[in-house]
Amino acid sequence: MKPKRALLIVDMQNDFCPGGALGVKQGDKIIPKINKYIKTFSQNKLPIFASRDWHPKETRHFKKFGGVWPVHCVQKTKGAAFHPKLKLPKDSILLYKGMDPGQDSYSVFQAEDAFANGFMQLLKKLGIQEIYIAGLATDYCVKYTAMDAINKGFKIKILVDAIKGVNLKPNDSKEALDFLTKVGAKKLILKQLEDELCS
Ligand SMILES: [Zn+2]
Repeated sequence: MKPKRALLIVDMQNDFCPGGALGVKQGDKIIPKINKYIKTFSQNKLPIFASRDWHPKETRHFKKFGGVWPVHCVQKTKGAAFHPKLKLPKDSILLYKGMDPGQDSYSVFQAEDAFANGFMQLLKKLGIQEIYIAGLATDYCVKYTAMDAINKGFKIKILVDAIKGVNLKPNDSKEALDFLTKVGAKKLILKQLEDELCS
């Protein structure tokens, strides 16, 4: 029996795209590809999750309160909104993370939906066994989410043509991907997806 799959789009928000408070270089360039993944998952009637960094004004995640990051993705601001080119279907499941002012919350497993259902709880309810991950950023939220997923027993596919990294150090994204494949994640590109979904 084939495992039940879901697509997870991580933090495709204005502040993480060029021009945003914490813009990932070429972060917006992956959006057309993500939209194609969205279309394929929709056509196959598979669930689509989209996470958002959703910080309070004061959190120790920000540099001015002791963290490492400039202020970004503050709740209900334009920076926290999804990038306007992202074509999320109406029935996507939206997840919010980073609300706790005492935590960085890089992993989507620390996120919840609008009704306070945790990501893990939602995956269990839908019977998901395999998660396909796209979005930002390879070396932070994608990495920590994939690590958590593997530790919790999920299969992970990293959509390598639909992710981008921050690269505070130039090799951070490459090292993140090398590490994830070592612990069991598989890399995938769009043209391999149809075969995957038909297998
Ligand atoms: Zn953040």
